[in-house]
Amino acid sequence: MAKFIFITGGVVSSLGKGIAAASIGCLLESRGFKVSIQKLDPYINVDPGTMSPFQHGEVFVTDDGAETDLDLGHYERFTTQVSNRGNNYTAGRIYLQVIEKERRGDYLGGTVQVVPHITNEIKEAIKAQGKDVDVVIVEVGGTVGDIESLPFLEAIRQLHLEVGRANAVFIHLTLIPYIRASHELKTKPTQHSVKELRSIGIQPDILLCRTEYPIPRDMKAKIGLFCNVPEEAVITAKDVEHIYECPLFFAQEGLDYILLKYMGLPLHERHMEKWEEFIGTLKHPDDTVTIGIVGKYTQYEDSYKSLREALIHGGVPNKLGVHLKWIEAEDIEREGPAGPLAGCHGILVPGGFGERGVEGKIQAAQYARLHKIPYFGICLGMQLASIEFARSVAKLEGANSTEFDAKTANPIFYKLRDLLGDDTYGGNMRLGKCPCVLTEGSLAHKAYGTLEISERHRHRYEFNKAYLEPLAKVGLVFTGLSPDGKFVEVVELRDHPWFLGCQFHPEFKSRPLNPHPLFRDFVQASHKNKVKSEE
Ligand code: GLN
Repeated sequence: MAKFIFITGGVVSSLGKGIAAASIGCLLESRGFKVSIQKLDPYINVDPGTMSPFQHGEVFVTDDGAETDLDLGHYERFTTQVSNRGNNYTAGRIYLQVIEKERRGDYLGGTVQVVPHITNEIKEAIKAQGKDVDVVIVEVGGTVGDIESLPFLEAIRQLHLEVGRANAVFIHLTLIPYIRASHELKTKPTQHSVKELRSIGIQPDILLCRTEYPIPRDMKAKIGLFCNVPEEAVITAKDVEHIYECPLFFAQEGLDYILLKYMGLPLHERHMEKWEEFIGTLKHPDDTVTIGIVGKYTQYEDSYKSLREALIHGGVPNKLGVHLKWIEAEDIEREGPAGPLAGCHGILVPGGFGERGVEGKIQAAQYARLHKIPYFGICLGMQLASIEFARSVAKLEGANSTEFDAKTANPIFYKLRDLLGDDTYGGNMRLGKCPCVLTEGSLAHKAYGTLEISERHRHRYEFNKAYLEPLAKVGLVFTGLSPDGKFVEVVELRDHPWFLGCQFHPEFKSRPLNPHPLFRDFVQASHKNKVKSEE
């Protein structure tokens, strides 16, 4: 049977529970254990697919097409996990499943209640993760004391009772604030948070204490005493420069050691050499390169979490530090591209929905094309680069996507349904992994080193193949198609150092120890551009 680690959060939100869960996964894998990390979100939305990136940050897409919480991105980047729908449950989805069962009559006329029906559904969802792994790590979203998270906390309390203390560990992530005026770290909020947790029947085994400064031993002893945990289980979670350093700091604090001890698992040797090497390059690159990202939620970096990480990963095999310059597309609309894009060695237009900023992004693609600046267009960024090319080079007047101009004379992108009149692809999105075949000798082929790839999608609009020939004739190269030839997946330009647009989202599959080849090559091309411009 798998062991369980439950992670709760206290005092305030945004303490980095996701990174903590991911780091624990990383450490356990480094000691040879197989893990699955799961996120339980207390909100009522069935999934975050319809939530605004302003509120919820990026929607992370899994191979099986689930739209999930961005913490799943951290889980995949810190471990070898390939997540699926089961790795993320919201309260809404749990309730939906229970209500559907009730409507089907599965409860045989019984009164359906939070305990046991909702809590049983949650427990089943957690246990399902334990099938082929040694340890299931469960992150409970929200902060202890919220009304919303109560059913989840009750479910993990019950599960702990069910599997026994040797098989389940409670970790509580809390804050030890530093009061500048008196130069003191304060433990009281942590004491209160643990008290709150105990009042619902959960005694944490380990405290992860987020702090700006290392917690001295005597303070650890005091926290331990008040919170009823041994001193060794009070772990400093100090702020770090790079999130990827977290597992190493936790290891120094002995977290993996005590976890294995508490769960009664063998103390296999820890192997973190490659991880350490990655961090070494990250901290001491040979040079840096600046990438301009033209988007619409740029002040909310969480909306582009995976993208940001993929660019950083892409720097490492090139021994480059990647500096990101976030550019609001509407600034380009107001001022033109030259000002906002000044100093960018490469330009990236990421995925997006809705009309705001679209023309600014089109101008950015044009600027990159004309000034031979490496360009990487992802999903919407691929669509807009193709539209720009159709307008400027193929002279197709008013070329657009029907997403932005329903009546355009030249619908370069459209919903398949609009044209075929069938609902096979519906108003719904193409979601999750799809195979793609690349053209030999293309930039994409050079990057991947193979002709058959699989990437994750999340979009409604598709390239209109009626425009394949007219655009190909004037120089747009179609270098990636779905195996049945139905979908255009990659476009490139010749006579340009590096210009590539892909309909999929490669950023979801980049990992620190396995940087995505397209990001790696884009960063490399951008750096070449930098070197050239300095000559
Ligand atoms: N809005 C576009 C579509 O739905 C692009 C989506 C995206 O970039 N993820 O096709």
